[in-house]
Amino acid sequence: MNKFVYMFDEGNGNQKELLGGKGANLAEMTRIGLPVPYGFTISTEACNAYYDTGKAIPAEIETQVLKALKNLEQKTGKRLGDSSNPLLVSVRSGAVHSMPGMMDTILNLGMNDETVVGMAELTNNARFAYDSYRRFIQMFSDVVLKVDSFYFEQLLEEVRDEKGYRSDPEMSAEDWQEVIQGYKKIVQKHARRVFPENPLEQLYLSISAVFDSWNNQRAVVYRRLQKIPGHLGTAVNIQSMVFGNMGNDSGTGVAFTRNPSTGEAKLYGEYLINAQGEDVVAGIRTPQPIVTLQNEMPEVYQQFVETCNLLEQHYQDMQDIEFTVESGKLFILQTRTGKRTAQAAIRIAVELMKDNIISKEEAILRVDPDQLNQLLHRRIDDSFKRTALAKGLPASPGAATGKVVFDADDAERIAKEEQKVILVRPETTPDDIHGIVAAEATVTSRGGMTSHAAVVARGMGKACICGCEALNIDIALKQFKVGDTVVKEGDIITIDGSTGEIFLGETPMIEPQLSDEFQLLLTWADDIRKLGVRANADNPEDAKKAIEFGASGIGLCRTEHMFMDATRIPIVQEMILADTFEDRETALSKLLPMQQEDFEGIFEVMQGHPVTIRLLDPPLHEFLPDKDELLVEVTKLQLTEPNSKKLLDKEQLLRKVRQLHEFNPMLGHRGCRLGMSYPEIYVMQAKAIFYAIAKVTAKGIDVKPEIMIPLVGHVNELKQMRQLVIHAGEQVKEEIGIKLDYLIGTMIEVPRAALTADEIAEEADFFSFGTNDLTQTTFGYSRDDAEGKFLQAYIENKVLPENPFASLDQQGVGKLVQTGVQLGRATKPNLKTGICGEHGGEKNSIQFCHNVGLDYVSCSPYRVPLARLAAAQATLENEQKQPINVLQT
Ligand code: PEP
Ligand code: MG
Repeated sequence: MNKFVYMFDEGNGNQKELLGGKGANLAEMTRIGLPVPYGFTISTEACNAYYDTGKAIPAEIETQVLKALKNLEQKTGKRLGDSSNPLLVSVRSGAVHSMPGMMDTILNLGMNDETVVGMAELTNNARFAYDSYRRFIQMFSDVVLKVDSFYFEQLLEEVRDEKGYRSDPEMSAEDWQEVIQGYKKIVQKHARRVFPENPLEQLYLSISAVFDSWNNQRAVVYRRLQKIPGHLGTAVNIQSMVFGNMGNDSGTGVAFTRNPSTGEAKLYGEYLINAQGEDVVAGIRTPQPIVTLQNEMPEVYQQFVETCNLLEQHYQDMQDIEFTVESGKLFILQTRTGKRTAQAAIRIAVELMKDNIISKEEAILRVDPDQLNQLLHRRIDDSFKRTALAKGLPASPGAATGKVVFDADDAERIAKEEQKVILVRPETTPDDIHGIVAAEATVTSRGGMTSHAAVVARGMGKACICGCEALNIDIALKQFKVGDTVVKEGDIITIDGSTGEIFLGETPMIEPQLSDEFQLLLTWADDIRKLGVRANADNPEDAKKAIEFGASGIGLCRTEHMFMDATRIPIVQEMILADTFEDRETALSKLLPMQQEDFEGIFEVMQGHPVTIRLLDPPLHEFLPDKDELLVEVTKLQLTEPNSKKLLDKEQLLRKVRQLHEFNPMLGHRGCRLGMSYPEIYVMQAKAIFYAIAKVTAKGIDVKPEIMIPLVGHVNELKQMRQLVIHAGEQVKEEIGIKLDYLIGTMIEVPRAALTADEIAEEADFFSFGTNDLTQTTFGYSRDDAEGKFLQAYIENKVLPENPFASLDQQGVGKLVQTGVQLGRATKPNLKTGICGEHGGEKNSIQFCHNVGLDYVSCSPYRVPLARLAAAQATLENEQKQPINVLQT
């Protein structure tokens, strides 16, 4: 017989796959002697067996559940359904990976018309017993019988109003009894059945409902987002209930062993006196900070602090702990590794390492490079005079500006139109997850730092403010008020998730800086990584950022960006429009000193670090006006100024634009093909580089230039361009008499270049894989169109696992990269190789680059820290593994 059910003292923390994260942790906490209410776990395998049998609980699982229940009854001395000493249990989902709030939970199971009387007598608290019963009916009906909670809340509000109460604590036992009668009628009406009083029936129905919730819509969306496989299934945890709502010596709360926003090593959390767990998480009442428990229940607080320390030591990581105090006695309901912001993740990893709890290597592996993006986000400029409209709890750091929306669907819709939105809600539920994903930030007027919105936003690295009670939100009118100020849907606000402040309109923002802990972690990463990390930078400012973020060189300087400047574009156009070689030379001679100055600026900043400069790449028409707009202008001039010089000039421009027009410009006259047709352009650029070398070297600054020829597909292209550059170098040398040290290499960005890399390497000192174009040319997808047209649908329909322009397609494009490296190095064993496409700043692609033996990755300056960390992780993760070879897979 297969074993599907495990008592808490039968398992341990390593059995996450079998018992789910929650079940394994409950078993582990029981094993190390913590005060955990006893219970048992129905395994994830049982969930799969349930689905295999067409959503029915197989008989052998029922038998094992009954046996475990007996065991639980013996241990607690209570019995399910016993009117004098009833056992009440919670039934909770628990997947292998934490999916907060995505699946269902039922509390107080076992309550019925008889056991409620028993509970009332036993606890000497009839009010508490009937309150628990009505909560159970509502929750069970919602989760199992699918009766919308709205009906129950509506009825409760009616009763409260009728009695003139303002809040639930004013309700008496009799009032709750009245509510219960009403609740049962609601069940009868909407579920078309009587509320089930038999506790065993309640139990089996609840187990099925929790299994079913594995496939509810929000769980499926969450899994897709977090890339959690659907076949894992959820476990179900059945645990004897403890009550935080038994009076003022009871309570319940959630705490993190360290601050999940900042990482500060200080207990952080909140609790509510005389309440049940869902009151804290649902954010309906605003809880107390955990420190005040020290005054209210000093002994319990002391015991809790000790337990937190023990749990953190045991799991060697920050823990997120749920606890309940029942009549002065502390119970730990669950612990898990706490979700945290990037800032907190870094600080915690570094401090745990300094405290000798984890190793340096472990600290590096603890921080997810993807999360670092949030740290490298902008924040509100300090010079901004802060007059906040309102202030809530700073639930997730970072600043964001956007249009206010009040509904998750609206957030998704408007964000799809490329508009930035901020989702404002009284509170969020797991059903709002798609809106939180789409929005720049989320604001709620209710709920604490551990409410749903806060947890989800922190996990995603999005700014969030919770519990901003000053906001008077009117969902129907799509507006909120703060005093007399009305903010309507579509109005712009800015929020600061680090302070909890909300501002009207836009605010100035500033660029981020690296914290001391972050710098330290990165220096540890630098000691370990094998891959070099360079930055893509086209001007001295970007080069400075690159150095500040730890780049060891520039892997791609796109020279065309220097041509786009408003003062230069007329000269570039003059050069393009030139009909004769001489005219073009005149225009180029004006551009040369400008280019030279750019290169000097970059070389000075880079102080001897290598700088890869790519000669002109885009098709020339990109520097000319739009054809259609020009046609309109010419037509107007023909009518208004028929014989003017202006018209003649515009007509000439239009002719040139038409002449340069191409059907597929990205596959057209660009890259080295320009150099082949107009060698004088490349000669000018090469000379500008050489003059800059001379000037900067004369100042005593070391310079390491690497001249790069784009879009080579045949070795002969590179051969000719190489000769061109060398010749230009010799001319400059002769002219000013200095020695010029430089390399000449090429980009590998069309498949033919990768496939003939052995020939190309004969002419190249280095290769840089341009995986943006290589992805475009390998898939045959236009990089400018695919993402806006069909690619999203491809990803949604799982035709492609991911966007290949964001994360390198290792099996296809990657195979070409690996071929290029291997063939290139067959010709020149020490050939320097790097990558400068967008993939150079993406975690999985970086790992791939490490595996295929590239020398460096190059990415935007803001991604350099991420790349340093990801490169170190790639080294650590692959230390044990054989190098991969996609060519053989
Ligand atoms: C590339 O193609 O990967 C590349 C870096 O060049 P660009 O994006 O400028 O075409
Ligand atoms: Mg390219």
